[in-house]
Amino acid sequence: MTHGLHHVTAISGPARRNLDFYTRTLGLRLVKKTVNFDDPGSYHLYYGNGEAEPGSLLTFFPWDHAAPGRVGIGETQETRFRVPEAAIGFWTHRLIAEGVPHEAPVRLFGETVLAFRDPDGMRLSLVGVPGIEDEAAGETGTIPAEAVIRGLHGVSLLLREVGATGAILTDVLGFADAGREGTTHRFRASGGIGGLVDIREAGDFLPGRMGAGSVHHIAFRAADDAEQAAMRARLAGNHRLRTTEQQDRNYFRSLYFREPGGVLFEIATDIPGFTVDEPLADLGSALKLPAQFEPFRHEIEARLPALAD
Ligand code: ZN
Repeated sequence: MTHGLHHVTAISGPARRNLDFYTRTLGLRLVKKTVNFDDPGSYHLYYGNGEAEPGSLLTFFPWDHAAPGRVGIGETQETRFRVPEAAIGFWTHRLIAEGVPHEAPVRLFGETVLAFRDPDGMRLSLVGVPGIEDEAAGETGTIPAEAVIRGLHGVSLLLREVGATGAILTDVLGFADAGREGTTHRFRASGGIGGLVDIREAGDFLPGRMGAGSVHHIAFRAADDAEQAAMRARLAGNHRLRTTEQQDRNYFRSLYFREPGGVLFEIATDIPGFTVDEPLADLGSALKLPAQFEPFRHEIEARLPALAD
């Protein structure tokens, strides 16, 4: 059984700028181009590693006129990618060359963390991880193989306090307490992609405001429907938390719930995966629509902004 993050979903400004930054500047692969199932007039863009693995996925709802968000209590503060430790130098040069706002690298739990912002001000970082040179990531056009982003490393949540959220991570979502450094409490599901959740305890502070550059929700992995149902039962039985009904997201099936710290959590199945409607080699190349929207493809395509010339 593999636990950890399945994906992170955020809000962005214009789709074209978002696509350019994540595919060209960062060298991620566009692994699915579809629409927001709850708002089919806008895109839902999925980026990941070359294999579109759970744990490598960062997805966006791009809106041309989204007002900027503000990070605060009850939100995901930073989304982290993992790269081989030796690639941090390459990435520092690349961020400078591309004019990406960034900070000097810092050490956290013995790892080098290079923090930067995307064009909407979303807080991201690259974490240099020892010994992952051979971790599969697939080909990318713009980044040398030895420096390619392997997937998500984890997220950092900004919460009033650790307690109740930490209990859900450890009791339901497959994480273990991995200790504390300063005000950061670390939870670890695995040594692989998507394996870490850090909670920064901030006490009383301003609440976050959702907008462009904000993480909308984070999703955790369940192998299949049975494991997801067991997690749902533990949430209800041990934590008195109810989830939504299961929603079919075409590439995974999802439940959502608001965790006690205020962050929207999702539990997403690994199945059926991203090759359910196009082969691995073609992922991201065509606009894919769920069956209920296919009859309206022409109208939907006419409303969506162009992603390229
Ligand atoms: Zn999601």
